[in-house]
Amino acid sequence: MKIPLVDLTAQYRSIKSEIDAAISAVIRDAVFIGGRYVDEFEGHFADYLNVRHCIGVGNGTDAIFIALKALGIGSGDEVITAANTFIATSEAISLAGAKPVFVDCHPETYTIDTRRIPAAITPRTKAIIPVHLYGQPADMDPILVLAKKHDLTVIEDAAQAHGAAYHGRKVGALGVCGCFSFYPGKILGAYGDGGAVVTQDDVLAEKIRMFANHGRKDKYLHEFEGINSRLDALQAAILDVKLKHLENWIERRRAVARKYDEALRGIVGTPKAMAGARHAYHLYVIRVKGREKVQKKLLEDGISTGVHYPVPLPLLPAYRHLGYQAKDFPVASRLADEILSIPIHESMERPQVDYVVEKLKKILTH
Ligand SMILES: *Cc1c(COP(=O)(O)O)cnc(C)c1O
Repeated sequence: MKIPLVDLTAQYRSIKSEIDAAISAVIRDAVFIGGRYVDEFEGHFADYLNVRHCIGVGNGTDAIFIALKALGIGSGDEVITAANTFIATSEAISLAGAKPVFVDCHPETYTIDTRRIPAAITPRTKAIIPVHLYGQPADMDPILVLAKKHDLTVIEDAAQAHGAAYHGRKVGALGVCGCFSFYPGKILGAYGDGGAVVTQDDVLAEKIRMFANHGRKDKYLHEFEGINSRLDALQAAILDVKLKHLENWIERRRAVARKYDEALRGIVGTPKAMAGARHAYHLYVIRVKGREKVQKKLLEDGISTGVHYPVPLPLLPAYRHLGYQAKDFPVASRLADEILSIPIHESMERPQVDYVVEKLKKILTH
């Protein structure tokens, strides 16, 4: 049996007629940049998250960069984020001219360890970017308390957590703004690059929209220099179709996760969903000893896996100049050696889940 990590062809088969019709409509109407398909998706996604504004942008990395720029964060500023995330989070901070300051992750939830944030705050700290990693919300209450106390802005990196919730509220809606990626493999993915920033703040929303679109207020009235980073209409139309299925898809992911939890507990380290959180399971990340060997054997059985991520960001060559050491991130460093993402997606059926479990058990008991 072949079990991919994600299965975008199966997903397409399940919604083919709707997707094909949406794509045809955009081409028929020839509205490719801005226009009604983008407006509609932005409105629907804002409603889904229960926020006032959604601004479609070119990708998730730009979403974070644009949020920082619109908030006036840049040169001389420090921004705190998690050591274990995709590089896009810290890249956007550097790109904005600020300095990323990394904090270790929590040993059970794998999201930023909020107990370690205070030690990272300096007079230059302007913002915290918690990452809702693997679909699990970061522990937002203590972060919001710290932010208030130290007058910091909270920008959520929700690129892996569409539809995840924290005490009943969808992530992305908890900070000053939330940043999403619609990279194809994400929980809500386009057929190419795409992203969005969401916010409740009317003034910030307008700045974000202008910055992402050449600083323009009107066609040739540019208030300031921005960039060109827009969600195009084809992607918006595709996302609008997929959004209708998102809740169902998340529930299906959660059902797969429950089966894995039951079958694998005691055999491997299973992910822990935080109390009060709705984990959306972008990834199902287990912990095993001898990971490379397990990964290789699973592949021989047709099961694809991934490692998200093999090296904590501050220890990558890209951040050598910041002078961090592995002992600064004991939890993220240990995790990086043991984590393994096993297949999870909305098209996975019982026999496929059982097959992964059976093979994994066999490998680990031998
Ligand atoms: C995917 C991802 C991003 C960036 O999204 P792109 O659309 O690929 O630019 C940012 N942060 C995290 C945590 C991600 O997983």
